[in-house]
This record gives sequence, C-alpha cells and structure tokens, in this order.
Amino acid sequence: MGRGIPEAGLVTHPGFRGSPTVCPGAMEHERRKIRYAVIGLGNIAQVAILPAFASAAESSELVALVSGSREKLEVLGERYGVAERGGYAELEVVLKRARVDAVFIALPNSLHREFTERAARAGAHVLCEKPLAMTEEDCTAMIEATRLAGVKLMTAYRLHFEEANLRAIDIVRSGKLGQVRAFTSSFSHSVPPGDIRTSRELGGGALFDLGCYCINAARHLFREEPIEVVGASQQLGEGPAQGVDESTTATLRFPSGGVATFTVSQGLATVASYRITGTRGDLRVEQAYFYAGPIRHHLTIDGKTQEQTFEDRDQFAAQLVYFSRCIQEDTEPEPSGVEGLADVRVMQAIQRSAASGKAEALPPFARDRRPDLSQQIHRPRLGSSTPVHAASRDKG
Ligand code: NDP
Repeated sequence: MGRGIPEAGLVTHPGFRGSPTVCPGAMEHERRKIRYAVIGLGNIAQVAILPAFASAAESSELVALVSGSREKLEVLGERYGVAERGGYAELEVVLKRARVDAVFIALPNSLHREFTERAARAGAHVLCEKPLAMTEEDCTAMIEATRLAGVKLMTAYRLHFEEANLRAIDIVRSGKLGQVRAFTSSFSHSVPPGDIRTSRELGGGALFDLGCYCINAARHLFREEPIEVVGASQQLGEGPAQGVDESTTATLRFPSGGVATFTVSQGLATVASYRITGTRGDLRVEQAYFYAGPIRHHLTIDGKTQEQTFEDRDQFAAQLVYFSRCIQEDTEPEPSGVEGLADVRVMQAIQRSAASGKAEALPPFARDRRPDLSQQIHRPRLGSSTPVHAASRDKG
C-alpha cells in the first residue's frame, strides 16, 4: 500500500510505521494537498519546478527545499515562503520535520538512485528527473527500493501529459498516416564546459540527457519496444569529460518493421524535432521536446498539409498534478519507474553498440501501459523566477 492518502479517510505521515490515523472529518482530508520537497536547486529546479507549484496549487504544495548551497536555500526559501530547508546530509531530518509526502529529485543523473533510495526509506514518494538513472541495475534498484518502502516512483516524463505529443500518438493510432514505418529525430543544444552534462562522474553525455526523449517518443509512436539498436558516438575530450558523448546517432529496429533514427548532441545548434512517416502521410513535430514555448504540428496526408500550434503550457505543473493524483488515489503512475528503465536499457545497448561497432540485440520487454490523450493535463504557466547560481539553458 502506498503512503500519502492511500484510502478514503486514512491519513499517514512520513516516518509512519504503524496503523494509519483515522481523522475526524476524514473525507475532507481525502484530497488533502501532497506536500513536496524539491531536492537539488539547479537550473531545472529553479526555472521550471519551483515556479510550477503556483499552477499545481490545487493538489501540490512546496514545503521543503534540499540543497548543497546555503545561499540558494536562503534566497529561494524566502522567495517561495518555504521554511523547512536543509543540506543533503540532513535529507531525512528535513523530510520528517516538514511532513513531506513526496520528493521531486532534480539532481545530476548519477545521484538519482542514491536519493531515490534515501527518500523511499524515509517514506516519501519519488518523482525523479529523467533519465531515471545511468544503468538498468540502478533503475531496478530504485524500483525495488520504492516497492519495498510502499511508495510510488514516477519518471518525470512531462511529455506524457503534453497535448502536442499525445496528439501525435493519437494521429498515428487513428491510422491517418497509414502504416507508420519511419521515425527520425534531432535533438541538440550547446552546453558550456563545466556543465554537469560534460562530467562522466555525474552521468553526463548527450545520449542520456537528450536521447531518452527520442527513444521514448519512438517507442510510443510505434507502440512497440525496439529489438535491435546500432549506435555511433563522438566523445568529448579529456579529464572529467573523457568518455562523455558529445553527440550520438542511433538506429532502432522495431518488431513490426518500423525503424527509428535520431541524432542527439550537446555541441550543436538548438533543434528539437521529430517526424513520423507512414504509407499515406507524415507528421512533423517542431520544438517537440521543449518544456517552454509553443510546439508545432505539420501534418501531411495524401499531399495536403495542415499546421497546428499548441500554445505554451506549464508541463511541470501538469506532472505535479498527475503525481499528486496518483498518490491521493493510490494508483500506479504512468510513466512509472519501469517506463524510465525501458529507455535506459535501450540507451545502454546504444552505448555498447557505439563501443563495439556492432548491432546490439535487445531482449523482449513488455509494456502494458502507454501514454494516450486521456493523460493530457493543461495548466497555465503562472510563475517564473530569476535563477540563483544556475545558468539558463535551452528548454529541453
Ligand atoms: P544543474 O547542474 O543546473 O543542477 C543540478 C543541481 O544538482 C546543482 O545545481 C546542485 O544543486 C545539485 N548537485 C548536487 N550534487 C551535485 C554535484 N556533485 N555536482 C553538481 N551538482 C550537484 O542541472 P539541471 O537542473 O539542468 O539538471 C538536473 C536534472 O534535471 C538532470 O537529471 C537533468 O537530466 C534533468 N533535467 C530535466 C529537464 C526536463 O525538461 N525534464 C530539463 C533539464 C534537466 P544545489 O546547488 O542546490 O546543491
């Protein structure tokens, strides 16, 4: 049984290990707001996660901040009116003191496992930034740790609630494009030296940072799991960046004959688009993976093109609303931890292929849930804030 509000009238608290308390007027508490701590106050936390609470206020409340920077804790704590704050070593104490239900982990990729395990042991549900982790082994350990603790684990795949991406899935499913056979995608931006994405130790590299979006889109547009991959990477230089891919190109083969190719890079101009082509038509999605700004569809069927613009929305607020709902209603999130693992296993196979120069076969992997239009959540962008020691970047 998950924590938070698992059943009508039962309210549990972090660190709670006995029977849940039956509160007077318990039905009112059934939908009480989910209390969040944000762990790691870097760029994405500051430009997207913290401001999103304003638009998710119906169900989600920011009650604690965890950071290695005293200055960020002070400035952002004041700005967002969050009294409970602490360093990484004090995580468990902060979660308990603030009666936190759920954490949003916005740390470098290599730290996702450690903090998921610690938060789960402390009794908090976990919403973890993408990629879920750097290895299948770490993903599996995170899934197991949250299962054992009876808390939920969601991979922060905001596009599973975003209309343009969900409509693309719907268009393919409707058959309008005929039989879809080809997915191509480019996702690139330019990352400065010193960024976490240039550090091997912190889980850097274009494939894990950006490739998960392309793989995720292809898997859900084809509604299958890839069976074979081929990868080629260009590595960054020396020192901490050694072994970090600046760019990776990959080809994924799917059981029904579909083929996906993508290039991701952290050393090229900004591009974020994909194209899915079938026997009758073609859909191009521009700015497909961005978390801010409009996303555009160019849909061509039997030679006629229609364009549609999907206006900017707060995708992070949508995620918070969804995850809070999963906790309140005790339902398993989609995208779950297994959904995060589904992409990590493909990325690791691409890495192996890039190293060996040979195609890598992937073992069968079953998915019983996939995102669809019913998951779309619209929330307006209400908040924005000037970052404190967190460089601004492209919106992917
Ligand atoms: P940043 O480098 O801007 O922030 C990471 C933060 O982690 C740091 O500011 C720091 O916060 C904390 N941290 C803790 N330990 C370390 C360490 N050893 N080295 C460096 N930082 C450390 O990265 P982003 O915010 O861009 O990315 C964070 C996560 O969010 C990644 O997993 C990334 O993939 C994901 N992401 C998701 C996006 C999306 O659209 N869903 C977009 C961008 C990123 P503090 O100073 O508070 O301790």
